[in-house]
Amino acid sequence: MRRLRLCVFGAVQGVGFRPFVYRLALDMGLKGWVLNGPSGVVIEVDGSPKVLERFAERVAHERPTASVVAAMESVWLEPAGFQDFEIKASEGSSQLSAWILPDLATCPDCLKEINSPEERRRDYAFTNCTLCGPRFTIITGLPYDRPRTTMAGFPLCPKCREEYTAPHDRRFHAQPIACPDCGPKLWLETNEGRVDDKVLDQAAQLIRDDSIVAMKGIGGFLLLCDARSEEAVAKLRLRKKRGEKPFAVMFPTLKSVEEACVLAWPEADWLISAAAPIVLLKRKPKAKIAPAVAPNNPRLGVLLPYAPLHHLLMQRLGFPIVATSGNLSEEPIAKDNDIAKKKLAGIADAFLMHDRPIARHADDSIVRLSRGHQLILRRARGFAPLPLRVSKPLRPVLALGAHLKSTVAIGWDKQIVVSQHLGDLETAESLAAMRDAVKDLCALYRFKPEVVACDLHPDYASTRFAETLGLPLVRVQHHHAHVAACMAEADLEAPVLGVSWDGLGLGTDGTLWGGEFLIVEKKGFQRFAHLRPFPLPGGDAATREPRRSALGLLFEAKMDMSRLEAFFPTDWQAAQRLPASTMLSPRTTSAGRLFDGMASLAGLRQVNDFEGQAAMSLEHCVDENELGTYPCPIKDGVVDWEPLLQAALGDIDRRVPVSRISARFHNGLARVVVEVAKLAKLKNVVLTGGVFQNAYLSEKTAALLESEGFKVHTHQRLPPNDGGISAGQAFLAGS
Ligand code: ZN
Ligand code: ZN
Ligand code: FE
Repeated sequence: MRRLRLCVFGAVQGVGFRPFVYRLALDMGLKGWVLNGPSGVVIEVDGSPKVLERFAERVAHERPTASVVAAMESVWLEPAGFQDFEIKASEGSSQLSAWILPDLATCPDCLKEINSPEERRRDYAFTNCTLCGPRFTIITGLPYDRPRTTMAGFPLCPKCREEYTAPHDRRFHAQPIACPDCGPKLWLETNEGRVDDKVLDQAAQLIRDDSIVAMKGIGGFLLLCDARSEEAVAKLRLRKKRGEKPFAVMFPTLKSVEEACVLAWPEADWLISAAAPIVLLKRKPKAKIAPAVAPNNPRLGVLLPYAPLHHLLMQRLGFPIVATSGNLSEEPIAKDNDIAKKKLAGIADAFLMHDRPIARHADDSIVRLSRGHQLILRRARGFAPLPLRVSKPLRPVLALGAHLKSTVAIGWDKQIVVSQHLGDLETAESLAAMRDAVKDLCALYRFKPEVVACDLHPDYASTRFAETLGLPLVRVQHHHAHVAACMAEADLEAPVLGVSWDGLGLGTDGTLWGGEFLIVEKKGFQRFAHLRPFPLPGGDAATREPRRSALGLLFEAKMDMSRLEAFFPTDWQAAQRLPASTMLSPRTTSAGRLFDGMASLAGLRQVNDFEGQAAMSLEHCVDENELGTYPCPIKDGVVDWEPLLQAALGDIDRRVPVSRISARFHNGLARVVVEVAKLAKLKNVVLTGGVFQNAYLSEKTAALLESEGFKVHTHQRLPPNDGGISAGQAFLAGS
């Protein structure tokens, strides 16, 4: 038995939606409730997963004809034991959030239209209707009406006006409605000047010729090149100054994805959904993708065309292309024509531009399959700003998140709206993006916070900004916020055991935490257990250099460090003195750094090219059939990784394949989570933090916990990484 919560967004109020759901539930013998919430219709029903999935399908397909469902989000929860099915009273004072939908991928009708020679919108790149098209990235104010979108500068032609005002037309009140006569136009800019004719044909030819094309899309500029061409991709890496971080690949069709990647249900559904995210898939050996697209990575970030512009271009190409954010590394994605031309001048050979302004940037979202559910790793286009429904009312709270993978959030009534992914707050540009997002969310929802939440870390730019706002400030411990985010999503009541594993976050004792077992109570939390601390040579520098974590671990365990000498070819003398310095080597309990250290010792990675690369390489090589495990005992609330490390080093010296070493390492950590859970004696266990982006670790740990009778909760609508922190902060500070 499970409980399914369905949030239905779109034009779903005042169209007989609740009575329809009531009749359907009765028909299927399901118990639960339906209500009109501040952001749409919310449904909860108990039942077996199979029946509930069927119920969700029927809601989508048999809904009242006058309703328009733009997005439907499902969250799997513990059964509530409902006795009957009821229509509950409406809740929420504000209707505002119901208006703001995410950007929706091109619908089948519009796709057919742009491919029909007799239609006036044939080949038109800005075709959309009430079911599809840009939303979040064009809205400038509320209520959602054309004058308050970036389409304001495109007065409707008579034909479009007719469609817009005809109640039975599928473009009735479609605010971004456009056609070749009245809507935005495409053009191409190259060194030779501007081209206004056969723009898509020429852009396609440039890509075929190994050029890099910057294309203005829905949420910003994307950089495109032939994904089969090692030369083109290598050129893009060089110009973008991007080492080995994988590029996403846009395929022309679902069928072409299937040829290149292992594609299972529900991954195919996600690719063709209205959110149209990047889905991480296992690639097939025969996939014709240049190695430089995702070096040494068995996975590929795959997406399908999600706007008519993409469809038209991909139809001309017929092969996969790299589609990566148009930015310099770490900066937010460029969205304005002039700025993009300046910033991307050294990267792109040509610009495929249009004159529809983008109101706010939105990167492509990234998801993967984990424990049978969708796990969001980056939440932006297609998901933002769909509100997260929580079970208790919140006082108006603004939460500023952490530092990396920043998001901000506002919470009120029974909902939390999380901003789109804003990036790492390392550059002036991303800082400005964070401040803009706060201003933007507050203006859009006419929201006035009464309290502000931020991280405990005093030096985060988000914390500093919070301090300038002149409102009551709640400083939330980082790992507590991670657990709270998952509790908010999973509708969990305290107490729970939160396993919060990530890189680094400031703890309440002033040290750097990251391998935490927190018992979260109604008010506050206690640190029930944690990994054994070890020095982190050079502090933050260790995030970039996994070999430093290895050094710290060996030093702490008083093991022979000389095996690391080869990993520090130029500065071994200085390096080996580093861990002893309490000044330069702060102590940490970070699970992320333990993974790094293991990856270094296993010879996988000494210097990271991007955040988390070493830990990822350890996951990638895991032999899933290996059942062996390393010992990792717990004593007095301290999880001791020393025996685990000893065993791993023994295997390394015996030249055991790294795939098995990695599996035994993962298995040992999964097992110790169960041991801690047994001591904590709490039914509900939450797995959160960036380390649990690792699907093997999540699945292994969850399976072991479940076999011992625990209820395991992992993220579904929020990222387990720091992108989820703002929601957790809002949930704690707002209640
Ligand atoms: Zn459409
Ligand atoms: Zn028109
Ligand atoms: Fe974190």
